[in-house]
Amino acid sequence: NILAARVLAETIKTTLGPKGMDKMLVDSTGNIIVTNDGVTILSEMDIEHPAAKMLVEIAKTQEKEVGDGTTTAVMLAGKLLENAEKLLDQKIHPTIITKGYRLAADKAKIILNSLAAEISSEDELIRIAQTAMTGKGAEHAKEKLSELLVQAVKSVVENGRVNLDDIKIEKIKGKSIEESSLIEGIVIDKEKVSQEMPSKVVNAKIALLDCPLEIRAPERETRLSITSPEQLQSFLTQEENTIVSMVQKVVSSGASVVVCQKGIDDVAQFYLAKKGIYAVRRVARTDLQRLAKATDGKIISNLKELTEKELGFASLVQEVKEGDDNMTYITGCKNPKAITLLVRGGTEHVIDEVERAIRDALGDLASVIEDQKVVAGGGAVEIELSKRLKEFAQTLRGREQYAVEQFALAMEFIPTTLAENAGLDPLDILTELKVMHESGNKNHGLNLFNGKIEDTFLRGIIEPLRVKTQAISSASEVAVMILRIDDVIASGKPKQRSANLPGMDGYD
Ligand code: ADP
Ligand code: MG
Repeated sequence: NILAARVLAETIKTTLGPKGMDKMLVDSTGNIIVTNDGVTILSEMDIEHPAAKMLVEIAKTQEKEVGDGTTTAVMLAGKLLENAEKLLDQKIHPTIITKGYRLAADKAKIILNSLAAEISSEDELIRIAQTAMTGKGAEHAKEKLSELLVQAVKSVVENGRVNLDDIKIEKIKGKSIEESSLIEGIVIDKEKVSQEMPSKVVNAKIALLDCPLEIRAPERETRLSITSPEQLQSFLTQEENTIVSMVQKVVSSGASVVVCQKGIDDVAQFYLAKKGIYAVRRVARTDLQRLAKATDGKIISNLKELTEKELGFASLVQEVKEGDDNMTYITGCKNPKAITLLVRGGTEHVIDEVERAIRDALGDLASVIEDQKVVAGGGAVEIELSKRLKEFAQTLRGREQYAVEQFALAMEFIPTTLAENAGLDPLDILTELKVMHESGNKNHGLNLFNGKIEDTFLRGIIEPLRVKTQAISSASEVAVMILRIDDVIASGKPKQRSANLPGMDGYD
């Protein structure tokens, strides 16, 4: 188990930090992903070993809770297990090790809190976003992007909380990353269903439908016997009438825009266009929900319920050409918190990787806005933590002090790897860092912009406190869990209820 976890940590450690390398993932059908993002690598990897799978789970938890720091979390877990192995070799029992690790993790949280600083300016937020994107696909546009991201996150803050789902990310192929932009409103990747419709609707009243504007095919197999042309004609007229009455329903509600999750058929398109209504179809459910929130409209599943009350409002709905596609921009929404980040980039692989970097940065920004606490990056906080945990180990009486010590040593894995990935000598860097921290420079870390050891906090290499606390707590939890396993037993298929033998009624 320990070996499996270590191998995994070794695999991803080369991606850590601004000088980390990328991985190219190739699946069995030949699709490729080029990424530097820990959680993406791990979740795309074909992993069989059960203990390694547990490590992948940490990355996913980290991604969900914070959105960044996934590589760090998995590396720490791997290192904690590697160090535990040394203790096991010295005949220290796993229960002692797990006890020590738990003590250390609790202490680490307290220390981290005491090391954290309150965020004081918007400039710091920008720095945090930049730190998150340094060395990723978004690197060369990070100045521009970080400003956009800060603006985006700030505009969706609600009572000190940030729901990142409120920020819609729409990817557009073409132009460069620098031309990414923030739109106050919702952009959906759909064009109007008919060329006859207006391209622009001012003061739009928007019907949000999750029912189709077409006649559904009957669910059961149905056969109609038609014996004369008149019958066929009346059947078709009947169908058309049904659709016309659907459109009539929309028109009489006063809607000037229809956003439909399902289909809109040709006849409906024709009549909607005749009424000057702008309509889009097959819109994603999530977009419909965002629109409901943004325009203060209600999603309607049954056309009969559609009245003016349910309509959403936006001051402008417009079709805009983006590259080869047309998109629908819905701006000037009732709720100004609705925003879309348009991410542009040359190729799909590039945009996807930029999006991952952006999501990391957004996660960091959200954590900081919620907690207001930041720490120094570039390994600074890890070294200080390591130093203080070693001091803490000295105060313990029992054998668990060895475990706390190993926990402390595991923290050094972050700065040494940052150095190694940048082609610097890890031992030299570690020694210098330790000297600085011994003399009280608690924010000194490795600045990889210039390869120097200095106060990384002052240099703007800052990260949210939550990234570090979450990484340490999930890494130690999983290490403890794996250490407590003494055997892996293949369990059978999930049990089925035993079938009664004939003549055994009542003996269940
Ligand atoms: P993770 O998935 O853990 O977030 P990253 O590849 O994003 O991994 O690397 C994060 C690490 O890189 C953090 O420890 C952070 O402090 C460090 N880092 C970021 N920018 C710099 C920099 N300019 N100099 C040194 N370290 C940096
Ligand atoms: Mg990161």
